[in-house]
Amino acid sequence: MSKTTTLIIGAGGVGRVVAHKCAMNTDVFGHIVLASRTKSKCDAIASEIKDVKIETRSVDADNTDELIELIKDIDADIVINVALPYQDLTIMDACIATGVDYLDTANYEHPDEAKFEYKEQWARDEAFKNAHIMGLLGSGFDPGVTNVFCAYAQKHYFDEIHTIDILDCNAGDHGYPFATNFNPEINLREVSAKGRYWENGKWIETDPMEIKMVWDYPEVGPKDSYLLYHEEMESLVKHIRGLKRIRFFMTFGESYLTHMKCLENVGMLGIEPVEHQGQKIVPIEFLKTLLPDPASLGPRTKGKTNIGIVAEGIKDGKKRKIYIYQVSDHEKCYAEVKSQAVSYTTGVPAMIGAKLMLEKVWYKEGVHNMEEFDPDPFMNELNKQGLPWQIKELE
Ligand code: NDP
Repeated sequence: MSKTTTLIIGAGGVGRVVAHKCAMNTDVFGHIVLASRTKSKCDAIASEIKDVKIETRSVDADNTDELIELIKDIDADIVINVALPYQDLTIMDACIATGVDYLDTANYEHPDEAKFEYKEQWARDEAFKNAHIMGLLGSGFDPGVTNVFCAYAQKHYFDEIHTIDILDCNAGDHGYPFATNFNPEINLREVSAKGRYWENGKWIETDPMEIKMVWDYPEVGPKDSYLLYHEEMESLVKHIRGLKRIRFFMTFGESYLTHMKCLENVGMLGIEPVEHQGQKIVPIEFLKTLLPDPASLGPRTKGKTNIGIVAEGIKDGKKRKIYIYQVSDHEKCYAEVKSQAVSYTTGVPAMIGAKLMLEKVWYKEGVHNMEEFDPDPFMNELNKQGLPWQIKELE
């Protein structure tokens, strides 16, 4: 076991997977500490991991001073942030103050505004450099693996990539009429927002769910896929050579969309507090209380996920189109780490990103996105750590 101390913050669906997977790699992660707002959730995860002792702590990750105290107390070498996007900045600031490396899986979102962007995290680049530490942003599946797929396509398959479509399909069935596969607040805010894609240097906005196509996902079949804005596009447009267009599509069933529209129409997706019997409540937070906890979907979910990228461009003067994708099975993921595939496909890349940072295979001071690094070691780890991928020439 290494002398490293790894701090994981957040004991939700993704935190569970990260804890299990780090425990399978203690030669790199050493002593593992799992901290969240509710310590009992950390204890429940720690008790599932039989061979490795996981220390558990409670922390309010909205409070930078509390985070600094915890990081110093356990003498952490890296912080893996799998709490919510609202905590990104406080955790990054605690890492700057203590000189400890940082990784997350989702970009900062302000609790009072349904908007997410990298601006405030990128703005900490100088502070990370001055503290001689690294921040790796968006090391989940999408963002995360999708960025690495793009970097891999760029490195091995193209001289120039002209278009990228990121295709995210979850064909899992949990048997509930309506539930979200990860944090409902984050999920519903993302899905009910306006769509956006990038073409010829400009962002083009669409109404929510305005653009739909049917894509035939290998091992899943044809599915309605809707254009959404997704955060990895913000960094990919900066780093992919010759890019002319990038879009992101996600599958939704009719029942999901009908439920969501209905909830939206009655105001249940609102993020502004409303007065209810003398109390202020935020509708979407109340909805979260009513909906099944995503962590409880694991044992019920059947079916597969398939997430990948289709890239088109030029190699040696000729047109080329390739598809890189990864298929996961909900039941297999649950059998391995007691979480369904959406948490699994996020938690495994978070662990891999942290592993490459600790091994100094991916190491650059400052704040970075995934596609800035050599994709090959990450792609190799995906095959070894439970997320084998496929590649196809399309034309
Ligand atoms: P959950 O809601 O299941 O878990 C979040 C955890 O964070 C909970 O345990 C919660 O604690 C904890 N938490 C929230 N606020 C605080 C706080 N102030 N202090 C300490 N702990 C806190 O979410 P998921 O596990 O599904 O998602 C985790 C992250 O992964 C999110 O940022 C999400 O956006 C991201 N994600 C990224 C994906 C990708 O592919 N890149 C895909 C899916 C998710 P408690 O339970 O005690 O309230």
